[in-house]
Amino acid sequence: MLVNNFNIKIDYLRISVTDRCNLRCIYCMPPEGIINKPHEELLTLEEIVRLVSIFTSLGISKIRLTGGEPLVRRGIVNLVESLASVEGIEEVFLTTNGTLLSFYAEGLKKAGLRRINISLDTLKEDKFKKITRSNSFHRVLEGIDKAKEVGFYPLKLNVVVMKGINEDEIIDFVDFALSQGITLRFIEFMKLNSLWRQDYYMPLGEVRRICAARFSLRMIGKTGPGPAIYYELEKGRVLGFIKTSQDNCKRCNRLRITSTGELKVCLYEAQDFCLRGLLRNGLIDEEIKEIIKSRIEIKEYTSYKNWNSPGVYMSSLGG
Ligand code: SAM
Ligand code: SF4
Repeated sequence: MLVNNFNIKIDYLRISVTDRCNLRCIYCMPPEGIINKPHEELLTLEEIVRLVSIFTSLGISKIRLTGGEPLVRRGIVNLVESLASVEGIEEVFLTTNGTLLSFYAEGLKKAGLRRINISLDTLKEDKFKKITRSNSFHRVLEGIDKAKEVGFYPLKLNVVVMKGINEDEIIDFVDFALSQGITLRFIEFMKLNSLWRQDYYMPLGEVRRICAARFSLRMIGKTGPGPAIYYELEKGRVLGFIKTSQDNCKRCNRLRITSTGELKVCLYEAQDFCLRGLLRNGLIDEEIKEIIKSRIEIKEYTSYKNWNSPGVYMSSLGG
């Protein structure tokens, strides 16, 4: 079993299965996109499955597939199926922009995917184009419908709130989530790289005040080790807030692997540790396991305040 420096059991692994994406969200990617890693540097599906089985022997039981856009990765449904059947894996989750979900939702459900988080920052078609630089707004709505139809429940919707961009839709989003039976989470715009815009930044306290002026919010608090704080909106319906301008280290139960196989013990970690090299250099599972363990033990916690990684994009980190 892995424990972090705060004695929290680490049982959750986020895997970025690709750095590619079919959208160009203004807070995540430059308009021209980022330079894609060469295909041969991406972990193969077999390597991902092998790594996951090594991680389960260390206590990982929950996997989230992310990206880039995980649904643009060829073989994603097979990957979910393989991961769901790795001994020790209890749940496989997915975070997606939803644009390809109407094609894949059914296959993913059959493959054993447990839950889906969809990222959508506006309910207006013209604004969607501005935020994502894409015309696929209706495809996301179709994806949400399809995911519900095949039984993904509860669907979670993640909204990055930006001043002057979508702050006027905060109440609309809550109404939408209530009417659709979706769990909504507002995310604070996170300062990462040159895409940061101070003028877009909206503290989550402000978002919560706007919601509280219209709905009676009863604080529930954290419902798990994740960073979201939940409020009850009405019976059985909750609203989450994910504050990125704070350190979540003390409760953090997660590890990350980038699409090229770098292990990130902390989101703010400057140095990567390449697992791909270990896999491709003939080490056996037991050796890789010991190296991962020792890597986690020496890790020092970093603060979001000290983080300075101008060349790092969320699409590579996986969120
Ligand atoms: N493409 C998928 C999607 O959009 O859901 C998965 C990858 S995306 C990097 C994962 C999450 O990171 C999304 O919910 C996205 O909104 C969020 N994200 C990306 N950049 C962010 C930023 N600067 N601040 C806050 N959230 C961010
Ligand atoms: Fe793509 Fe997701 Fe980044 Fe948007 S947030 S550009 S959908 S990876």
